[in-house]
Amino acid sequence: MEVIANADELIPFRGCAFVPTMGALHDGHLSLIREAKKTGKPVVVSIFVNPEQFAPEEDLEKYPRNLEQDCEFAKSVGADIVFAPSVETMYPSAPENICLPKSATQPQLEDACRPTHFRGVCVAVARLFDIVQPVVTVFGLKDYQQYLVIKQLIAQEGKRWENLKIIGAEIIRDADGLAMSSRNAYLTTDQRSQALGLHKALHCTSEQSMLEILDDHGLEVEYAVIRDAQTLLSPIDNKPTRALVAARLGHIRLIDNAELPT
Ligand code: AMP
Repeated sequence: MEVIANADELIPFRGCAFVPTMGALHDGHLSLIREAKKTGKPVVVSIFVNPEQFAPEEDLEKYPRNLEQDCEFAKSVGADIVFAPSVETMYPSAPENICLPKSATQPQLEDACRPTHFRGVCVAVARLFDIVQPVVTVFGLKDYQQYLVIKQLIAQEGKRWENLKIIGAEIIRDADGLAMSSRNAYLTTDQRSQALGLHKALHCTSEQSMLEILDDHGLEVEYAVIRDAQTLLSPIDNKPTRALVAARLGHIRLIDNAELPT
């Protein structure tokens, strides 16, 4: 496996399967790499803690970074390239003034709570797609709204990344149900049991009971909703629905979601 920092060195790998990450890799990320591997294409994994998607009060400085260990993990599941660009390589000039997909501009859920977040995500992902020029990209359903936003971004940009397909990979959880996240590393033992409330809340069939479970676990709820799985607007009869939650434990923000049985 090669570790590359310069955009030009990726030219031979155009047409790859691409997994963008911010590093601090765990089994959730590794499942994305395995999914990418199944395509039979060379697999490029990017590791870039994107300053554009952190609001000033968020954890950019504290965000866990360990490139050496990440490279070992990526290699262990068959990644061919780790692309670890500097901020200067990613943003040689001011970040693109990208036209955001509709679902990221009608503030709801994540963009209501983190108004500048999806702009930052789209700017980085667009730049990465331009550099890497993959034919397949894998995103985790753990960040369900992000997956929908990127899917729309690809559709909206049309010829810019022609024939690029996106795969949504299932959420990987610890044995007790907690969705894996790089931010779980911040949790104390007590907070970790409180955090299980997120997963438990996703088994409810009403928003009211979701709120009660989150509250019982001492979680500060940002949203706990049941929505249409495609639009994230109010559910429509006979259409797939998704339960989505976001909650805080002190400074730690956790999200989770699940498909609801029809
Ligand atoms: P991040 O490094 O947090 O930006 O995540 C990079 C990618 O890994 C995103 O597509 C996430 O949705 C995905 N991901 C993170 N945690 C999980 C998980 N527990 N299961 C599946 N995918 C995940």
